[in-house]
Amino acid sequence: MSSGITIALLVVLVLAAAAAGLLVMRRSSSLARTGSTAEPASVRARPATGGLADRLRDLLGRVPGDQEWTRLEEALIRADVGAKAAPDLVDRVRARFGADADPAELLQDEIVALLGPDASLELPDDRLGIVLIVGVNGSGKTTTIGKLAAMLGSENRKVTLAASDTFRAAAGEQIDVWAQRSGAQLVSQQRGADPGSVAFDAVRSATAKGSDVLIVDTAGRLHTRSPLMEELSKVKRVIEKAGGKVDETLLVLDASTGQNGVAQARAFTEAVDVTGVVLTKMDGTARGGIVLVVREELGVPVKLVGTGEGIGDLQPFRAEAFAERLLRE
Ligand code: GDP
Repeated sequence: MSSGITIALLVVLVLAAAAAGLLVMRRSSSLARTGSTAEPASVRARPATGGLADRLRDLLGRVPGDQEWTRLEEALIRADVGAKAAPDLVDRVRARFGADADPAELLQDEIVALLGPDASLELPDDRLGIVLIVGVNGSGKTTTIGKLAAMLGSENRKVTLAASDTFRAAAGEQIDVWAQRSGAQLVSQQRGADPGSVAFDAVRSATAKGSDVLIVDTAGRLHTRSPLMEELSKVKRVIEKAGGKVDETLLVLDASTGQNGVAQARAFTEAVDVTGVVLTKMDGTARGGIVLVVREELGVPVKLVGTGEGIGDLQPFRAEAFAERLLRE
């Protein structure tokens, strides 16, 4: 009898232990599942995460139809990519999309392809190189001139600045501060002087002093009757009369101005031969899609990017880094 009770007790104990073991196993496997859902290895390995990249993966995760592709186009337009570049990009991604493709990676690739090879400043080594800086007031022209002077100075080039924005109050003082900070020579006249006359003097002075580069500031808005664009063409003609040649005409554009910035850019490119864009304030909340609009609609490359108010906050534009950033926005 007693051995029967002992056996029965043993059976109960074994069953209880087995049940407890099962419970422990269940808890640990459900923990493992939660962990793997939070951070699967495949997500960690992808090129860009967050923002547009993740929205894109959600949208195109299933087999996408017309509606999903339209939504992608809308998302790109919201990122300021523009009504021409957005459908172009969607078509390119759609053509390459397949079952195992990462749509964010495809879009990143296609943005880089659309932008073409990176373009850098082209300045001569054997004579005075001249850079004309144009753009509306507030876009960051003066700050860019200071940063560019410092960048060229760090490449051992001797830089002269021409304060040809003689219209805006305090423009002369502001450029003077940047000349001192960057170690550049400054040529200026009194406020209200003829901008062409300042540019003429600056070409002569820079040549006489053996400067490598002359950076010419220009007005962003005029208080005279003479239209701004005519005045810019005049400055260019005067530079040539003084024996200089404009190598680069850089349009400074505030990245946060969106479509308004595109309209400004169009006006400038129609009036002067813009060779490149400097996109400023890319450190803010700017939706940098404007880079694609400038490239596609105006045919001008972005050459430099401003990423802050400090003297070192100017970088050459890199399409790869830009595309990666746009997908994170
Ligand atoms: P300008 O009127 O075109 O000469 O413009 P300024 O150079 O005076 O710049 C206008 C404002 O934008 C100033 O407060 C600058 O410090 C600021 N700024 C210029 N470039 C940048 C940039 O890349 N990032 C940020 N955050 N601010 C900038």
